[in-house]
Amino acid sequence: MSLRASSRVPVPRAPLSLSAASPSRSLMRATPSRTGHDGLIPAHGGRGLTKALVDPDEVADAARWASSLRRVPITSRENGDLVMMGIGGFSPLTRFMGKEDWQSVCEKMLMADGTFWPVPITLSADSAPARRGEQIALEHRGEVVGVVEAEDCWEMGAAQRALECENVFRTTDPEHPGVRAVLNQRRFNIGGSVRVLSEGEFPTRYAGIYMRPEESRRKFAERGWRTIAALQLRNPMHRSHEYLAKIAIEVCDGVFIHSLVGNLKPGDIPADVRVRCIDALVKNYFPPENVMQGGYPLDMRYAGPREALLHALFRQNYGCTHMIVGRDHAGVGNYYGIFDSQYIFDNIPTPEDPAKRLLCQPLKIDWTFYCKKCDGPASLRTCPHTKFDRVVVSGTMVRKMLSDGMELPDHFGRPEVIDILREYYKGLTNKVEIKLGHAATMN
Ligand SMILES: [Zn+2]
Repeated sequence: MSLRASSRVPVPRAPLSLSAASPSRSLMRATPSRTGHDGLIPAHGGRGLTKALVDPDEVADAARWASSLRRVPITSRENGDLVMMGIGGFSPLTRFMGKEDWQSVCEKMLMADGTFWPVPITLSADSAPARRGEQIALEHRGEVVGVVEAEDCWEMGAAQRALECENVFRTTDPEHPGVRAVLNQRRFNIGGSVRVLSEGEFPTRYAGIYMRPEESRRKFAERGWRTIAALQLRNPMHRSHEYLAKIAIEVCDGVFIHSLVGNLKPGDIPADVRVRCIDALVKNYFPPENVMQGGYPLDMRYAGPREALLHALFRQNYGCTHMIVGRDHAGVGNYYGIFDSQYIFDNIPTPEDPAKRLLCQPLKIDWTFYCKKCDGPASLRTCPHTKFDRVVVSGTMVRKMLSDGMELPDHFGRPEVIDILREYYKGLTNKVEIKLGHAATMN
């Protein structure tokens, strides 16, 4: 295996914004100018990776102490957020947000101290803490996974829920899965510092895939990578994704295929199946030294543009200088314009202190597909032909076709991947009806 020399100058070989969708692509900086102590992009917030995970040799004592505390059950989303704070994925955040941070993040995409942050990270509970400073045990699936020290508490009335939904999701439609989650959350939000006792099932269930930011950073540094593009995946990797990853490899040192291993909405394909699809694709169609696969523990929020920014933020903590943003990144249904998640990167606050800015840059790529006349994968920027020459099938549409037992069009996916998906759908007993949105999301 030939690794690239670590002495290579960390500059990509081409401008890193590839889409016509961006009005400012020529102004985009190719690489962030600052680096962390490992030579990689620094963690967000300027304090390195901030980790709330309790040391392994202190966990037993901490768990014994936590067992005496009042318990609050947490949701899957809250648990994913907690684990991210544990492992430094949400650096510099190591607390569920208090009211001031929550409101400022919703309205301005800034925490109260002026640090960029696009999506509120909150904890809900049925009752308020007994007193300020109360330590509360957080329970997920019967296990105490962390402790929060309650520093703030406020009621999430109808007005507060609407404020969060309008700003973060751009809609208050209860059909939107992210809005529904906010409407269904409990009466109070509790803000406060956390200590994390357990990463739950992620390290064992996704062994070899689930990765902490310090691990991906160590592996990037070992390979001599400096410019790394993250490819966000929540659908099986088909040929358009393969094309996106290969574009990224052409302009960066490597690509980090980073799968969501938390919860999706019903009807989506579970992480273990998606991971096997990526394995098959990487094994047969990529030089292994230019690709790395990893997983992160969050649930999807389906917040479209705002979530794309959160994805870039935690990719920075994982050591990525860039994130590929294709069509309808993190969207759902028809709630977002198909390139809104690209445009938003040009309209975010840029705090005076560079440490408080988002440094991970979008690698904007236009709508991609296989074109029969071009005789290969292409995008709207490279292919002059018509829709009749193109195989345009979204990940959502593929799930529907597989679920309904239909044949997939030629050139849509590699046979090794299609075989894995067919096998999965054959074994399904409870099928969920899949709805198609206008953008039929592909990421
Ligand atoms: Zn073409």
